[in-house]
Amino acid sequence: MKLEIRGGGDYKGVFARLAIKTGERLAIFGGRVIHVTKEIGDYGIQIDENFVIDGASVHSGDLYEDTFFINHSCEPSAGIKGQIFLVAMKDIAENEEVTFDYAMCLHETKGAAPYRMECQCGRTSCRKVITDNDWKIQELQKKYDGWFSWYLQEKIDSAKGSATGCNVRAV
Ligand SMILES: [Zn+2]
Repeated sequence: MKLEIRGGGDYKGVFARLAIKTGERLAIFGGRVIHVTKEIGDYGIQIDENFVIDGASVHSGDLYEDTFFINHSCEPSAGIKGQIFLVAMKDIAENEEVTFDYAMCLHETKGAAPYRMECQCGRTSCRKVITDNDWKIQELQKKYDGWFSWYLQEKIDSAKGSATGCNVRAV
């Protein structure tokens, strides 16, 4: 296994046990698919505007456990491929924490409380408050192009497509 949960008390995170190269698959999110409003805690990964894979449903000490404590960072080391694969966005050093940006998978859900988390990642690029609308931020769309969950990447790409269409007509 490449990853390991470390820390205790208030802070737990997932760390690289060995050096990892860009593009290596780090983890697979698993669990039962449930409606966002049914999620207890913050342990799932959103795969649709209304659905989340509930990591808590398989939290039992196997490989999936590695995804349970993966933290958010505004300068993450990993991104999402497809809907459930976590992949290294850059070379990750041994003992470095593995993080992803929650903007890569969160979308607001009608009827659910808005997501809001205060971030203390301490990076200069820190957004301070993470919401389920962050995927709409253009700067992030550029920064994480190809690293968003499939359903968000589709939305972003189709919006880009229509913008190009306008330009073509303008010419
Ligand atoms: Zn931050």
